Amino acid sequence: MKRSYSLIAGVVVLAAAVSFAQKPKTIKPGWNLFSQAQDVQLGKEAAGEIEKQVAVVNNAQLVDYVNRIGKKLVAQPEAGQYPYTFKVVYDKSINAFALPGGPSYVHTGLILAADNEAQIAGVLAHEVSHVALRHGTSQVTKAQAIQLLAGLGGAMAGGGLLGQLAQVGAGLGANSLLLKFSRSAESDADLLGARMMAKAGYDPVEMAKFFEKLEAQEQSSGRSIPQFLSDHPNPGNRVKAVSAEVKLMPAREYTKGDTADLGRMKTTINGLPVPPKANTNFRADSGGVTARPNAQLKQYSAKGLGFKYPSNWEVFSNQQSSEITVASRDGIAETNGNAEIAYGAIIGLAQTKSQVNIENDTKAFLDRMLQQNKNMKASGEATKRFSVNGANALLNVFFGPSAFQGQREVDAVVTVAHPQGLLYMILIAPEGEYPKAQPVFDQMIQSLQF
Ligand SMILES: [Zn+2]
Repeated sequence: MKRSYSLIAGVVVLAAAVSFAQKPKTIKPGWNLFSQAQDVQLGKEAAGEIEKQVAVVNNAQLVDYVNRIGKKLVAQPEAGQYPYTFKVVYDKSINAFALPGGPSYVHTGLILAADNEAQIAGVLAHEVSHVALRHGTSQVTKAQAIQLLAGLGGAMAGGGLLGQLAQVGAGLGANSLLLKFSRSAESDADLLGARMMAKAGYDPVEMAKFFEKLEAQEQSSGRSIPQFLSDHPNPGNRVKAVSAEVKLMPAREYTKGDTADLGRMKTTINGLPVPPKANTNFRADSGGVTARPNAQLKQYSAKGLGFKYPSNWEVFSNQQSSEITVASRDGIAETNGNAEIAYGAIIGLAQTKSQVNIENDTKAFLDRMLQQNKNMKASGEATKRFSVNGANALLNVFFGPSAFQGQREVDAVVTVAHPQGLLYMILIAPEGEYPKAQPVFDQMIQSLQF
């Protein structure tokens, strides 16, 4: 379901108080059922999948530039012994990502956004640290230990690790190795990355400065959070934490890199032809699994409206209307400043001319919705009549194309006769996910209070 405005996170996350240790923290990989060789194999398979979805740039100058920075970093002991590779992806969004075992990618949008080479090195050092600390497979281990114990034993036998894991119910899309990391993983990647940068001669503080710059951009533009910060949430005052880490290192001269060099790279990027099939939101291809609602619910209450929503979802307010959206960030695709809710809920109050007539006002509301979303169609299911909070309510179900590629979307539209107008709650999920989401959606509907 398309929304022609950007969303602003309505919930402000307060940075946790950070205490600074006086000696360097020992940073180690977490619990992991995969072997290091399996990390490498998984990363290779996932890279093959992902490179079908993104536009890898072959411009020699750019490839050399990024590789020169990457090689300086992975020559440091912090990077461990993985077969690292560095590629440039044509994508306007400010992002970079790395897969288990070493395949690393930087978006053209990130190079354009960097003030200096040290900032690009900072992002790469942070990504390389996630690889060295094996955060991707450690996170999968924690989430799917039981299935993995059943599946990993024979998984090296051929047929692909991704495929074999799918067979034991540990279905890992290539993109699910790019999950959002925890704050402790972020803080470890910042610190290990800072050490790696310093040894390679780059000013480590530039890494934290770049992240803070992205945050400032988000706040000043009112645009939603850059993908990089969504995948790599701020563990709490990054500049301070990295600066404290630098103080523990032996004093040395740092470089921010060659300014003219970076300028030439930016000119090259701006002159690149737009690839025919650049998919700027390939992450939306996880099929929605990472956006699935938790059964544990939280309470929302404001302006005389209350309802419960999944604890892993966030509340977003819309700039140009009183609507609110509740979703996981992974459930929202953004293109050209438009938000497309692929997995989530939209709640609002539509004005009516006089006292609500649930049948007529719902019909008018649905007509408007279908006009704004031309590809949506009625499901053919009969309208369901029930009551919510003692008021008459209707449920109408629609189908449309999902932002998760190749899937159909279910839009369940609940309308309720509210004293001030037509209260609506639109529950959206890709069709394959809908049965899993429905029990939570039902609870959300029944929790409406006004
Ligand atoms: Zn990170």
